[in-house]
Amino acid sequence: MSEELSPRQQDALEARLAERRDALIGEIEQEMEHSRHSSMEELVGLVRDTGDESLADLISSLDSAIANHHLDELRDVEAALRRIKLGRYGYCGDCGEPIPAERLQSIPTAGRCIACQDHHERTHAGRRGASL
Ligand SMILES: [Zn+2]
Repeated sequence: MSEELSPRQQDALEARLAERRDALIGEIEQEMEHSRHSSMEELVGLVRDTGDESLADLISSLDSAIANHHLDELRDVEAALRRIKLGRYGYCGDCGEPIPAERLQSIPTAGRCIACQDHHERTHAGRRGASL
């Protein structure tokens, strides 16, 4: 059997995730400097002050302005940080089983165990019409 995540490992991953979130926000800010929407820079400043709730709104309003892969990653990182706060980090969102520490070390944003992730990718490939 695989090792479960220890509290110390989780702390280390939380630090990595928070660091990655700040780096991503920095990159998104830079990308926005290339666009002409100066008001969006103010929005990012606001997010830093007000926290998670407004970030979701910000992200949806910025979708067209920023490289999508950064947004996708930021969403994943935010979701993982939220799970840590809620005490649900390291457990599969589908089956509830602990996600092996090894998997979380290589993919800190993983929200599913390997079996459920495989299943998800097979059934939701391309996000077409699968509403359960
Ligand atoms: Zn699972």
